[in-house]
Amino acid sequence: MTKAHFGLIGLGVMGENLVLNAERNGFSSVVYNRTFAKTEAFLKSRGAGKAITGAIDLQDFVDKLERPRRILMMIKAGSATDAVIDQISPYLQEGDLLIDGGNSEFRDTERRVADLESKSFGYIGMGVSGGAKGALEGPSMMPGGTKASYDAIESLLTKMAAQVEDGPCVAYIGPGGSGHFVKTVHNGIEYGIEQILAEAYDVMRRVGGMTGSDMADVLAQWNTTEELSSYLVEITEICLRAKDQKEGNDLVEKIMDKAGQKGTGLWTVMSALELGASVPTIYAALNGRVLSSMKEERIKAELILNRTMIKSFEIGNKADGMRPLMDAVVLSTIASYAQGMELLRIASSEFNYSLNMPSIAQIWKGGCIIRSRLLNRIQDAFNLSPELPNLLIDPWFAEQVKNRLPNLAMIVSGAAEAGIPVPCFSSSLDYINSYRTARLPQNLVQAMRDCFGSHTYERIDKEGNFHTEWLDSNAN
Ligand code: NAP
Repeated sequence: MTKAHFGLIGLGVMGENLVLNAERNGFSSVVYNRTFAKTEAFLKSRGAGKAITGAIDLQDFVDKLERPRRILMMIKAGSATDAVIDQISPYLQEGDLLIDGGNSEFRDTERRVADLESKSFGYIGMGVSGGAKGALEGPSMMPGGTKASYDAIESLLTKMAAQVEDGPCVAYIGPGGSGHFVKTVHNGIEYGIEQILAEAYDVMRRVGGMTGSDMADVLAQWNTTEELSSYLVEITEICLRAKDQKEGNDLVEKIMDKAGQKGTGLWTVMSALELGASVPTIYAALNGRVLSSMKEERIKAELILNRTMIKSFEIGNKADGMRPLMDAVVLSTIASYAQGMELLRIASSEFNYSLNMPSIAQIWKGGCIIRSRLLNRIQDAFNLSPELPNLLIDPWFAEQVKNRLPNLAMIVSGAAEAGIPVPCFSSSLDYINSYRTARLPQNLVQAMRDCFGSHTYERIDKEGNFHTEWLDSNAN
């Protein structure tokens, strides 16, 4: 019997679609799922009539694969991934390659790459983005591990990936857990943009009194612009336009205002804190979800703290594409990308990942959730200046800041006076204002730290570390 080119473990939402994608691209496949009934159901439905066979157990699975084996795991991250690695390892032979396409924590991937490669197996930790549709039609993929392991699956991945004008949305990211680190930061940026669009919706609804269709029309306009044309703006328009089938009014208004967070947003913020990277827009989005989940507390607090609207403010109108609000959305979105890219740059240096920033921007241009036209500008900025410390100082992005900052400030101050929370808009404003301020007030923080804890301080007029006996009357 001819052996299959490719194996998949885990017939969940992503696994099913990825194996159909591989098969469509000429890679005969064998699938294994812990619960065999799912394998049977898949082979009778979407997998029927395709070059896909099922395996009843892991022995059967490896026997049906050509060598060296190429096996993609699309399973729950964490202990489930370790369990599957332990279960399949006894069946693997030298040169066989395991690919983890789940949302694994990058340090877990570092450990697994070191462990599996030391046993002469290949191991790739690969971020996959695009949801079910992307997995089927062409996702964005971020594979990390040894270059030799990547080379063994390059032909498969480049065929499966989304294609944009300058190539497939996949490339070798770097060693160890770098692929999963980049996917984590991708998700952090995604958290930011989703919250930014939710804030824009809240302002349009509460200040502008707009209906779902009105807001959807604005989003449709934004989606034609270079700065905002993106998948997330596109699906926000769709969500705002959708009607409740029974009652005919806006479906979004029927949805409970509680958002979960599954880990990658939290990991982005934790990594940023550990690495000394500043990601306030992304943190604000994470915190927005945390606060949203406290629904019962918020209901009580609204009664006690009396959330009444103080006054209306200028947000623009449909004819001008809500220009002030659009400016706030554009700059906050830029801040979200800028913070994510800066975190990648710092991590690259700290972990010796040698990340190729233009290549990462290129991978994100198709297939993934944060795909947008803005990524062309991000790619250009890092091509022009590979060591660019922050997107905000690239000439094109600096011009955006100059032109749009007054409206971002106006929206933030208007929302503050009206009592409308806009955590991502306000964090982005503070981020940009802090970053463009040559002298911040942390000189006083340093003085306090030296006063109570003798932490010493540096001076602006001479080299060295200094200490003052602040409480000694001679210092005053
Ligand atoms: P899913 O639909 O929840 O499927 C989970 C799969 O994992 C099932 O096949 C399940 O097998 C298997 N599994 C769970 N625990 C297991 C264990 N202890 N041993 C063996 N198999 C186990 O998941 P999904 O949405 O396809 O996602 C798969 C992975 O991709 C996750 O890491 C997820 O975070 C990541 N991801 C998801 C998306 C998305 O949009 N959904 C996008 C990118 C990445 P059973 O059928 O036997 O339960």
